[in-house]
Amino acid sequence: MDADVIVVGAGPVGLLLAAELRLAGARPLVLERLAEPGAEPKARGIGALATEALRRRGLGEALAAHQERGLADKARDHGSEKGHFAQIFKIDPALQEEPDRVGTLIWQPDLERVLAAHLTSLTGGSSAAVLRGHEVIALTQDDSGVTVTVGTPDGERRLSAPYLVGCDGGRSAVRKLAGFDFPGTEPTSVVRRVLTDAPGLDKLPESGWTGTGMLMRAPGMVATVEFDGFPEDRGLPLTAEEMRASLFRVTGVDVELPEVRGGLRFTDGARQAATYRVGRVLLAGDAAHVHSPNGGQGLNLGLMDAVNLGWKLAATVTGRAPEGLLDTYTAERHPVGAAVLHNTRAQSALLLPGAHVAAMRDIVSDLLDFLEVNRYFGRMLSGLGTRYELPYPATHPLAGRACPDLRLVTGTGGTRTLSELCGSGRPLLVHAPFQPEAAEAAQPWRGALDVAEVTVRDRDDLASALIRPDGTVAWASGPGPADTVTLTAALRAWLPPA
Ligand SMILES: Cc1cc2nc3c(=O)[nH]c(=O)nc-3n(C[C@H](O)[C@H](O)[C@H](O)COP(=O)(O)OP(=O)(O)OC[C@H]3O[C@@H](n4cnc5c(N)ncnc54)[C@H](O)[C@@H]3O)c2cc1C
Repeated sequence: MDADVIVVGAGPVGLLLAAELRLAGARPLVLERLAEPGAEPKARGIGALATEALRRRGLGEALAAHQERGLADKARDHGSEKGHFAQIFKIDPALQEEPDRVGTLIWQPDLERVLAAHLTSLTGGSSAAVLRGHEVIALTQDDSGVTVTVGTPDGERRLSAPYLVGCDGGRSAVRKLAGFDFPGTEPTSVVRRVLTDAPGLDKLPESGWTGTGMLMRAPGMVATVEFDGFPEDRGLPLTAEEMRASLFRVTGVDVELPEVRGGLRFTDGARQAATYRVGRVLLAGDAAHVHSPNGGQGLNLGLMDAVNLGWKLAATVTGRAPEGLLDTYTAERHPVGAAVLHNTRAQSALLLPGAHVAAMRDIVSDLLDFLEVNRYFGRMLSGLGTRYELPYPATHPLAGRACPDLRLVTGTGGTRTLSELCGSGRPLLVHAPFQPEAAEAAQPWRGALDVAEVTVRDRDDLASALIRPDGTVAWASGPGPADTVTLTAALRAWLPPA
């Protein structure tokens, strides 16, 4: 075997997954077909959940360094710092229930650099965990592992590992080679986008609907949305001629485009793998789910797949997993992906042309002026409403949810944030000084668990909590006596057998 886990794809999801695997004691090997990282500016940011997840790994400052530029770029391109549903830019971060839980505006190539450096730091300063110029072209699996055939500049080679994860994007070769079902809905629209400052662009109308499509303009960028005429081969790169013809169809203006930089063509086709695991092959990120980028949810979704899977798969390959741990990956993450597909389909419906949809858009826009509605959409797009089903009765409002970055007071009176205690990537029990029974119940698992005696400052309803490596609250207690029966059930469910 060449590694504990082969990760196919060094996009953001593959890089984070590899880092999480390494942190949890497994040996990942990342195979990436591109010789160099892509400079494509696709996603402009990550959501609150992914931001918190990366802060728990000590990457808060590296992310924060990009926020100012990200805010300026967003205001420049959209005229607003607010979030949007179906391009209705009204979701106001300041109005949300938990306004401190916000995402980070960081362009995708910058994020990939941050994640690559993080992975390198976990592999002792070596970048050997990532093999570039390695394209997976064939895959077989049996009871003991997975073998891939990889095309490299020096010819083909075969590599094996007990498990393999396809993080190889929306057109995932792994998904196809391993035989995953990928059901979903066909596109209703196609977006074409180029980065250009071509002089003829000033002849174009302002952004908005035209009789035949939609035009989107921002400094250095122009895009069209059309509702028919999907290209036969979506894998072909976007050419200047194709973009020019699309601009003409949408606006009636003929613009000469001398060069095409950052050409992108994508649709709102929405598909999701029926399961995220077939035998020893798993999927994460766009490989597991594709949908329109409206609402900016794809990257957040994929990074949270990686965070959910990393520790579970590492525990499985190193023989430390409780029974059934790996199966909880699909069980927890598939519904979250399905919810994102659901809301992006609704956004696609609201973006269709015609007077009837325009009327509906006006009504949704008016509804967004109501505080509760604004919060409803904010919760939906941020994923902050996500709650995993736990396999034991857990009644605290935080149980099953991603833990906010709590402010804590330590025994010496110092203050820490929860994320500062999570860097090891191990499960963490934080307990109030008046709930020593929680620490006593966890005693048999002390070798696999970090424990901190602290007082939670932000919430009256929280005295102690068991936090999984992915930041999920596995168990929580209010200020009364701690329910150690449920805490023990939680420890059994998520930690190695005591
Ligand atoms: C225009 C646009 C705007 C977007 N805006 C946002 C946004 O604001 N917010 C947001 O959250 N999301 C956004 N998204 C979505 C986001 O970009 C994706 O969800 C994200 O890139 C998914 O990351 P990934 O690592 O799963 O896949 P990818 O980023 O696609 O990475 C996959 C990697 O696998 C490699 N690979 C593929 N096949 C093979 C193979 N056979 N062998 C080896 N390597 C292979 C690829 O070269 C690539 O490096 C946007 C997308 C687009 C197109």
